[in-house]
Amino acid sequence: MSTSFEGRGCEVCGCNLKHQYFSLSKRSQTVSQSVEGMVITVLTDEMLADFCDNICWNEAEASIVSTLQVAYQALSMTARCSLCRRPVDRSAPHVTVNVAEYEDASQPWLISARILDEREIAVYCPTCAEPGQSYVEDEVADVDAMDVAAMCS
Ligand SMILES: [Zn+2]
Ligand SMILES: [Zn+2]
Repeated sequence: MSTSFEGRGCEVCGCNLKHQYFSLSKRSQTVSQSVEGMVITVLTDEMLADFCDNICWNEAEASIVSTLQVAYQALSMTARCSLCRRPVDRSAPHVTVNVAEYEDASQPWLISARILDEREIAVYCPTCAEPGQSYVEDEVADVDAMDVAAMCS
């Protein structure tokens, strides 16, 4: 049976991913405000690395966070750039780095993973990280109920 993490290895220890694993991704996105709250529109999403468990992720996280001026800020319309601390207008395209904890939920007929937790580690101003161009028009990611199907290649 295939899994959502088949063929993907841990960035830290090199072993195969487990049933629950962590993935780091870089996104270009915009944030808008609606009656239901903040809506994140993902323009591009690029997988950076996978981690087999929270021990390996914690190790990687410590070294990532140590390079940032600002980490883990609450979602609001204006953020601080994680490198230069300048204000970032989140209604305009900007780059973020996110970590998500996944639980494989693959069925024989469907490769998928459930997101257990997702956090935004870093936000970058357009000077520090240039946002990518949209490849999917108006793709709105519902952060709470996002089902990631067949993300592996
Ligand atoms: Zn590992
Ligand atoms: Zn910056």
